Amino acid sequence: MTKKIAVLPGDGIGPEVVAEAVKVLERLRREFGLKIELETAPVGGAAYDLHKHPLPDATLKLAKQADAVLLGAVGGLKYDTLPRDVRPEKALLGLRAELKLFANLRPAILYPQLAAASSLKPEIVAGLDILIVRELTGDIYFGEPRGVRTLANGERQGFNTMIYAEHEVERVARVAFDAARKRGKKLCSVEKANVLEVSGLWREVVERVAKEYADVALSHMYVDNAAMQLVRAPKQFDVIVTGNIFGDILSDEAAMLTGSIGMLPSASLDSNSKGMYEPIHGSAPDIAGKGIANPLATILSVAMMLRYTLGAPVLAERIEKGVSTVLDQGVRTSDIYTDGTKKVGTTQMGDAVVAAM
Ligand code: NAD
Repeated sequence: MTKKIAVLPGDGIGPEVVAEAVKVLERLRREFGLKIELETAPVGGAAYDLHKHPLPDATLKLAKQADAVLLGAVGGLKYDTLPRDVRPEKALLGLRAELKLFANLRPAILYPQLAAASSLKPEIVAGLDILIVRELTGDIYFGEPRGVRTLANGERQGFNTMIYAEHEVERVARVAFDAARKRGKKLCSVEKANVLEVSGLWREVVERVAKEYADVALSHMYVDNAAMQLVRAPKQFDVIVTGNIFGDILSDEAAMLTGSIGMLPSASLDSNSKGMYEPIHGSAPDIAGKGIANPLATILSVAMMLRYTLGAPVLAERIEKGVSTVLDQGVRTSDIYTDGTKKVGTTQMGDAVVAAM
């Protein structure tokens, strides 16, 4: 059956990197039997310019109808003064909520060819391959009550609520166990159960779900220790599952281990493996329009789409091997360039991957 992919390029370097990912999809369609249909729509600032809204009804409708969404990035300086509810970033929150994308998968992979790009010693990070599964729709970011109140003495006090219901923990735990099962069969659940009741419940539910996954080794770690272990010995991890705020912080830390924001893909999934796929970087206004952005994070997001939504792991591997081959050839965009390698622009990098696939 033909699968529909909504393509939402967005702003800044978004359209530049998405164009290269689309080239990859087109080659898979032409030559490797992938049955897909692509439809493009505006999102973020680009949509605001056209329709005065960052997530127009037609774009949302397309995203809902599609089997998967490929998103570039949103945001830009000229939109920073708009009212909060029509800022480009609002489109991301809208898509996550409307598509019920509760599980965010962020791999941190360090290709051995790029070990010098990390700020850590090469022996600590070379060959790093971990996956962080972050809960995306709950926790302190959404918990009620929240606000700023004035106390009897006139002092103001800000407050938020860290909150998880059992079903929210259970469904994200399942995504993480399923992912671990397809990888190194190790899952580390990260929380702060020594201090927080919400974390105690989190741990209890994860242990309950673990009974269905006897083939996956489960461990638990407090978030402060996890932050430390990620820089001390990151290769001890296979898959990490954690809540929204801890995952927000740890996944950025893990991304930086690899030293190259232009290399890292992500997936956000619902309970039926429908997903939105995007690079972890933003719209990079400082380099937009120059043709120098690294398209590999977006191309690798397509590989995740093939693996998690389109059920085509062999084609996913074809892309990943293509990227590795291109790195072996010494082809580099400026963000990952080192002496002795060959500097290319966005389009040339995309072409090199398409040729190497
Ligand atoms: P950014 O990720 O856009 O850029 C950070 C730095 O990394 C910049 O120096 C940029 O040039 C570089 N960079 C990023 N992607 C790159 C790539 N593919 N190749 C080479 N270099 C790359 O983060 P920022 O500067 O904090 O944010 C810029 C805009 O993007 C803001 O409007 C922000 O709100 C938005 N943003 C959007 C998303 C998203 O759409 N998911 C995520 C983060 C930030």
